Amino acid sequence: MNSLKYPVIQHLIGREWSGAQTQEDRVVLNPANGEKIGQIPQASAADLDRAVRSAESAFQLWRNTSPMDRSGILRKFADLLRANDTLISGWITLDEGKPLAEALAEVHSSADHVDWHAEECRRIYGRIVPSRSPQVQQLVVREPIGVCLAITPWNFPLSQAVRKVAAALASGCTMILKAPAEAPAGCMAIARFLQEAGLPEGCLNLVWGNSGFISETLIERPEVRKITFTGSVGVGKHLAELAGRHMKRATMELGGHAPVLVFDDADAEAAARALATNKLRNAGQVCIAPTRFFVQQGIYDHFMAELVSAFERVKVGDGLHDRIDMGPLCHPGRVNAMEQLVEDARQNGAHILTGGSRIGNVGNFFAPTIVDTPDDSIALMREEPFGPIAAVSPFKSIEDGLSRANGLPFGLASYVFTNSLERADQAAQNLHAGMVSINQFGLALPETPFGGVRDSGYGSEGGTETFDGYLMTKFISRNRA
Ligand code: NAD
Repeated sequence: MNSLKYPVIQHLIGREWSGAQTQEDRVVLNPANGEKIGQIPQASAADLDRAVRSAESAFQLWRNTSPMDRSGILRKFADLLRANDTLISGWITLDEGKPLAEALAEVHSSADHVDWHAEECRRIYGRIVPSRSPQVQQLVVREPIGVCLAITPWNFPLSQAVRKVAAALASGCTMILKAPAEAPAGCMAIARFLQEAGLPEGCLNLVWGNSGFISETLIERPEVRKITFTGSVGVGKHLAELAGRHMKRATMELGGHAPVLVFDDADAEAAARALATNKLRNAGQVCIAPTRFFVQQGIYDHFMAELVSAFERVKVGDGLHDRIDMGPLCHPGRVNAMEQLVEDARQNGAHILTGGSRIGNVGNFFAPTIVDTPDDSIALMREEPFGPIAAVSPFKSIEDGLSRANGLPFGLASYVFTNSLERADQAAQNLHAGMVSINQFGLALPETPFGGVRDSGYGSEGGTETFDGYLMTKFISRNRA
C-alpha cells in the first residue's frame, strides 16, 4: 500500500512540524499483518511548554475572531476532509484496521460534524435579564474558556478528535491535542488540513508521547483551562482527579457496557440483523456497541438462531481488501483480552455459540463470538469487551430486564427492541444511560448530544450542548445613569 504514503508522524507546535525520530520512539504497526508503518515522536517538557505558549498566544487572537470567520475556516476544513477522503480512509484502515467502507464513513461523518459546528457557532447567544431598575442593564454573555487539552482514543482516530477540535475552535478556544499512538494518522490529517484551511498558527497544536507525562505537565499549567478526554473509565477517573486538583473544567467521554433489551414482541430477524451489524462494526471496538444482550424468553431461541447465522456470515479479513465486513482488532492487547474473557466464560459454565478464538497467526484477528450465559457475574458481563464478543442472556419480565440492564456502574448507550410503545417508554424512562435508542441505532449524529452518566462520564459532545464545555458564563450588570 505504498500508494497511500502513510504520513510521517510529527508534532505541530505553532506553525512548525517537528519531532526527530529516535531509537526510543514507539512504532506504529499495521494490525492486519503486524508490519511497521510508522513511528511516534516523544514530546519533551520544552515541546509542551512551546505548545502551551503557542496555544495561549493564539487564543488572544482567535477569541476575537468573528464566528463568521471561524465558521469559514471550519467549512474549508470540512471540504478538505471530503476532498481527501480516499487518502484519509486508507490511512485509518492501515493503522486502526477497520474496513475501508467504514473508514470512509468515518471521514464523511467527521466532515459533517465540522460543518454542523461551523454553522452552529454563529448561534452562540447571550441574553438580557430584565433588571429591577430602569438605569441598570443586566447582560449574560458566553465567552470561550481558553486553551483546552484534548486526549483522544484510537478506535475512531479521526472522528473522536474531530468532535473535540471542531467544538473548541468553533467556540473560540484553542487546543493542544494529544493523539493516540496506536492509530495516529487520523489526527495528522486533522492538523494538516486545518493548517491548509487557513487556521491561524497555534490554534491547534498536536503533540505525541508519554500520556501520563503529557497530561500531568499540561493540566497543571495555569494557561490550560479545560481537559476533554475520551477513553477508558480508569484513565478518565485519574484525569478527572487531576483536573479537580487544579480546578480545571472537564468533559469525560468514557467507556460503557451497553445493554440491549429485546422483548418477545420484537421482530426477531430484523433485530438480530441490526444488532449483529452494529455489534461487529469496527470489530466491536465502539464505546456504544451493544454488548450485553438481554433477550426475553419467548423470543430467545428464534432470535439466537438469527443472531448466530448473522455472525457466521461476517467475512473477516484485511480491511484494505474487497468485500471485508470486519477487520482485525487494533492491537494485540485486544486479542489477549478477548481470549481471557472467553476463557473465563467457559470456566464459569457459559456456552460459546459461535467463534471464541483468534483467527490465524498473522494480524490481530478474532472471530465474531456469541457467549450464552445466565450468569451476570462472569467477567464478560461486568467488563466492557471492546471487541467482537456479544454476551446473551434470557430475561423474564420487564422489571427483571431493566434491573439487570442497570446492574453495572456504567451509563453510556442502551438499546431497546419492541413493538410495544408502552414497553419502549417504560424502558426509555428507566434505563440508567446517557442515550437510549429504540428499534434502531440512532446515536452519534452531529446535531444530537452524545455522552454518558455515572462511570461513563459527564458532558456532551454534539447537539447544542456541545458548546457548554467550551464556554463560560459571565454576568455583566451596568448602570446607564
Ligand atoms: P485508554 O483510556 O487506555 O486511552 C485513551 C487515550 O488516553 C489514549 O490516547 C491514551 O494514550 C491516553 N492515556 C492513557 N493513559 C493516560 C494517562 N495516564 N494520562 C493521560 N492520557 C492517558 O482507552 P483506549 O483503550 O485507548 O480506548 C478504549 C476505551 O475508550 C474504552 O473503554 C471505550 O469505551 C472508551 N471510549 C469511550 C468513548 C465515548 O465517547 N464515551 C468513545 C471511544 C472510546
